[in-house]
Amino acid sequence: MESETLFVEEAEPPGRLTDIVGPNQYSDFGTSLNTFYTPAAAPARSVSRPAVSNDSRARAFRKRFFPNTTLKEWQDWHWQLRNRVRDVETLGRMIHLSEDERHAMSGQASSLPLAITPYYASLLDPWNPRQALRRTVVPTVHEHFRSSGEADDPLHEDEDSPVPGIVHRYPDRVLFLVTGNCSTYCRYCTRSRMVGHQGNHCLNTEQWEKGISYIAEHPEVRDVLLSGGDPLTLGDEQLEWLLAHLRRIPHVELIRIGTKAPVVLPQRITPGLVKMLKRYHPLWISIHAAHPDELTQDAARACIRLADAGIPLGSQTVLLSGINDDVETMKRLVQGLLKIRVKPYYLYQCDPIPGSSHFRTPVAKGLEMIRGLRGFTTGYAVPTYVIDAPGGGGKIPLLPEYVVGQDNGDLLLRNYEGQVFRYPDCPSEEGVIH
Ligand code: SF4
Repeated sequence: MESETLFVEEAEPPGRLTDIVGPNQYSDFGTSLNTFYTPAAAPARSVSRPAVSNDSRARAFRKRFFPNTTLKEWQDWHWQLRNRVRDVETLGRMIHLSEDERHAMSGQASSLPLAITPYYASLLDPWNPRQALRRTVVPTVHEHFRSSGEADDPLHEDEDSPVPGIVHRYPDRVLFLVTGNCSTYCRYCTRSRMVGHQGNHCLNTEQWEKGISYIAEHPEVRDVLLSGGDPLTLGDEQLEWLLAHLRRIPHVELIRIGTKAPVVLPQRITPGLVKMLKRYHPLWISIHAAHPDELTQDAARACIRLADAGIPLGSQTVLLSGINDDVETMKRLVQGLLKIRVKPYYLYQCDPIPGSSHFRTPVAKGLEMIRGLRGFTTGYAVPTYVIDAPGGGGKIPLLPEYVVGQDNGDLLLRNYEGQVFRYPDCPSEEGVIH
């Protein structure tokens, strides 16, 4: 009988999944994982929120919509990419499209193409157009309305680009856009102007070489963030070409990769990929997660496999109206991320790209999220809330007002419960002890 696991072929199984999936869910992982991860010494304890079990759902989805596809094919990331849902007819067979969704895809073309991996499509609620995951990937007519303040390139990345693919904004680091492709397109994507399109933003080896040369010629660049598009849509060889060339540059200390693959295409995190990535440490990965329902067992296994390879994982989350902008959902997301060894890193205010007004929240919402997390859960779980300043100003962190005033040299500080405490601050001029 088939077992829905991504890791049947692995040489090194992923680290502890027991705390994440719960002790009664081992059967999903097959014999090898039972052997390696029986929690013999661990005390029995309840797990408040196991990662979402998607195995049986994915199996039913595959049997219904891809009846001739084997489990092995389903687990192959190339198959997932080849079989992405790209048109309204195919999507309409899988989920019951609302008038709004159908209209959005049937009329004028959106600047952002439609693509959803079969894996991620299996997580969509076929009946509920308001479901959080569905809203992130299925277009609605709101996308076609440009509101005031929205711009194709709100962060002015193109202006800060000395050569195609490189954005050099901060003093010691660059963003290296290595592809315009993603396995699944998020409807709120900051780079909707370039992802999924050919033309100016079609990045190829010649442009990669120019990007590498630029970095080599700038000794101040100690940190390179590979992004796009999603760099993990590249094959292992292409990715290794980039990593190897960057590693040959002596002043590049740190390489980072930004990707959504672990949650939309977890099949991509193969033993071969991880083995290759390990050769290029220090290498960090930022995962883009939007909602706790994305933290399935498959996503958990992908993240744990990366973490086991010594790759520090952070997450970036865009604050999205009606999707993750309530404290309970956000708390489930950040706590779930920690359980799969991902540190919540940034919470972004949604950028004002064209047709994004239905996704954007007031800034007060973001502050409410931080106020609802800080003190109420593990400090590691609290991301930094930032606005990426329109016009290219860079990331600006925002915090709720914790400093409420001064009194006789004391600072008046508000704690997470709203109580005010005094802190005897050091005098700033005379009497300073150095
Ligand atoms: S994965 Fe990232 S780059 Fe790709 S569509 Fe989503 S937000 Fe944009």
